[in-house]
Amino acid sequence: MMEQYFTLKEKAHDCLLFYRMGDFFELFYEDAKLASAALDIALTTRGKNAGESVPMCGVPVHAAESYLAKLIRAGFKVAIAEQTETPAQAKARGGHKALVARDIIRFVTAGTLTEDTLLDARSDNMLVAVAEVQGEIGIAASDISTGDFELLRISGEGPESLGELTAELSRIAPSEIICSPSLNERLDDKRLAATAWPKEDFDSQKAERKLKSIFGVSTLDGFGDFSRCELAAAGGLIAYIEHTAQGDTPFLKPPVHRHAGEYLLIDGATRASLEIERTMAGERKGSLLGNIDRTVTPGGARLLGRDLAAPLFDETKINLRLGMVQWFHDAPAIRDVVRDALKAMPDISRALGRISAGRGSPRDLGQIRDGLSGARLLRERLALDMALPDLMNNLLPALDGHGAMVDLLTRALVETPPTDMTKGGYIAAGYDPALDELRSAGSDGRKAIATMEARYRETTGINSLKIKHNAVLGYFVEVPTKHGDSLMAENSGFTHRQTLAGVVRFNSAELHEEAVRVTQAAAHALAAEAAHFEELIDRILKRKDAIANSADALARIDVAAALAERAVEGQWCRPEFADGNMLEIRAGRHPVVEAALDAAGHPFVANDCALSNDERLWLVSGPNMGGKSTFLRQNALIVILAQAGGFVPAASARLSLVDRLFSRVGASDNLAQGRSTFMVEMVETATILSQATDKSFVILDEVGRGTSTYDGLALAWAVVEAVHETNRCRCLFATHYHELTRLADRLDAMSLHHVRAREWKGDLVLMHELAKGPADRSYGLAVAKLAGIPKPVLKRAQSVLDKLEAGKAETGGLAAGLGDLPLFAASLADEDKQVDMLRETLRELDIDALSPRDALDQLYALKSVLEEE
Ligand code: ATP
Repeated sequence: MMEQYFTLKEKAHDCLLFYRMGDFFELFYEDAKLASAALDIALTTRGKNAGESVPMCGVPVHAAESYLAKLIRAGFKVAIAEQTETPAQAKARGGHKALVARDIIRFVTAGTLTEDTLLDARSDNMLVAVAEVQGEIGIAASDISTGDFELLRISGEGPESLGELTAELSRIAPSEIICSPSLNERLDDKRLAATAWPKEDFDSQKAERKLKSIFGVSTLDGFGDFSRCELAAAGGLIAYIEHTAQGDTPFLKPPVHRHAGEYLLIDGATRASLEIERTMAGERKGSLLGNIDRTVTPGGARLLGRDLAAPLFDETKINLRLGMVQWFHDAPAIRDVVRDALKAMPDISRALGRISAGRGSPRDLGQIRDGLSGARLLRERLALDMALPDLMNNLLPALDGHGAMVDLLTRALVETPPTDMTKGGYIAAGYDPALDELRSAGSDGRKAIATMEARYRETTGINSLKIKHNAVLGYFVEVPTKHGDSLMAENSGFTHRQTLAGVVRFNSAELHEEAVRVTQAAAHALAAEAAHFEELIDRILKRKDAIANSADALARIDVAAALAERAVEGQWCRPEFADGNMLEIRAGRHPVVEAALDAAGHPFVANDCALSNDERLWLVSGPNMGGKSTFLRQNALIVILAQAGGFVPAASARLSLVDRLFSRVGASDNLAQGRSTFMVEMVETATILSQATDKSFVILDEVGRGTSTYDGLALAWAVVEAVHETNRCRCLFATHYHELTRLADRLDAMSLHHVRAREWKGDLVLMHELAKGPADRSYGLAVAKLAGIPKPVLKRAQSVLDKLEAGKAETGGLAAGLGDLPLFAASLADEDKQVDMLRETLRELDIDALSPRDALDQLYALKSVLEEE
């Protein structure tokens, strides 16, 4: 057996091997150690091999999916080795001691899952293949659980192409990446950790033939004009999926050909810092997507994620989407009807994905039936409305034409078909008279056996006699031991089968005959059901493109209705588009910060933004915690929402399309890649300066803060000048460097703004309100006080600040004069003395002897000691 195991283990490469033995999948050796630790299950041993005991652990077959889910989440891949013949077949083949043949029937990897239990219903699960042909990089990406498939070519060359590749991968957020070994070596970036796959499979000619055969076309021209690197990537992708499925052709819809220029480009750093689909901590909750998602179907949720990941750069297409959102926005009644109808629909895309991958169950057939019949009802309801928006008119035909399929599935299936088909019972009564007959033969037989039991009790006089059934003996008569002898008699009509503690079991010719009838009828009924299942699967696969189109249309309708719902909830507005370089937002808000403040009962202060050709760059200053970052981000999020085709959190919004969005916000280390905070900041700033065009929108927060004051100021100064003069993009630049405000005199398209604050009774009040002009002063120490920095440290900071400012005024040198500042310990000692003095005075006061007037005088005196300080 171990020999067979080792052969399979070698075939499994880097995967854990699930080796089927009876009702368990067993793991051995290193696999057993890894899996038992990851799954928190017992590690045991099984015999010895070459004198060493063999570590082993196992999981029951019926619960394997949940263990698989855990292992995949923990980053493992699993090869499933099943028995490919029955023990009886093995015996017939190789005699009594023959080992049952086993083979790997599937590789379960993160990017090739189709099971509900292993997938997140509301997120895509993408597998990506990357190929390089003659210096050009191509990407093939697919979600085999829904068949979505796209191809694209990276346009840049050299190091730039790797940057663009990283950006695309951050958009797609794949669960698994594969590429040829040579490319894998060059992708040294740990975030791209890819599996190397044989180079021969990344072959564009082979891939072209394969694609033509999958889609049954003689040319791929209808799908797009693909370059060799794209085809090569598709080749690798398909070969990998076929390998994991061990032969089955993958479910792929015709490829969507993406071009970089069709979308708003957002690089990985920007995507992460704006927390578009996930927060920095990796959560959906707290991200923009989490905040706006009101979809009611898993397909809609996945599409919304894709829309936000890749907003459009095409006004016509955006307005088409907005038109449908507007329609739902203005018609609450129809919005409710549609959303209620969608809510009841199952996830057709994923059911179809499983069916196409050969892993479908009767339940999946039921889901297709319910989804398509829901689509039909929705279609009929919408047809009553005359004034549909254009996009809806384009989508509705995709919901048509499933009448015959729905009728067939409704007749063929029981109302809630099971996932497990081994016990049958999913084909409805009345669908097939032959099946009905087999079923009634079975139930007649069971009734006959029940009658037989009653009769045997009567004739034998044993009231405790029972006819039972188990997997080993089939049907048998059972009596307690004390009655056993009476049935043992030769002419009793019973033959002895088994004696156990307490009972004796018998057979009878009559029972045997009836049992054979029942078993045969059941076996034939199961086979008949399985045949119907195959036929229904076949019918569905013939129409899979049409079914997939319906699922896509339903998802698009769900997204539009959901965006409308969110817009109504937050009183959002429809954005308008204009030529030129404007970004004119009136009373804009940050949806996520607003929701957080709302939950705490605080109002969010809306702010305007008005960038144009003549005023492209706003320099925003003001105190820490004043709301600068929030203002910068909210405008970036508004651009994303608008170009994704949604309403935006503002009173009004007019913008010119943005081609690339960049955000350099906050400090983050990337120590895993060997980059310090300042290095990350500079790398990201360098990307912006080299890539932002006059159509781009850039937000820069505190550039230059990660180094010494002079270096930082100098860099920030030069970056502002470059953005203004060279990139000429729209830009919001937040800074604490007061000195930068002087640039306003020299740069004509730059203007100064600040977040307002004032001091009231010694405390800082942050107004979170944007106003024109520079900030009157910085409030760093006041914010530090708000944060609870201890008083002695604050006082000390104030003395250092006074000295610094005096030194700057006298000598121009920032740190001049700090040398003769008394030591910190001395200032603490001064403070101690003062506290001692106050304590002493208080102790000596005879309060009872004081008149009210004296008491007041003493209070003034005590306070004046403090104020002298
Ligand atoms: P720093 O300079 O320290 O980075 P900042 O000026 O960038 O600070 P933000 O991080 O934008 O300040 O905001 C700080 C906090 O102020 C937010 O977490 C939020 O609670 C609150 N805030 C920001 N903007 C607003 C607003 N427009 N209305 C109400 N509260 C706001």
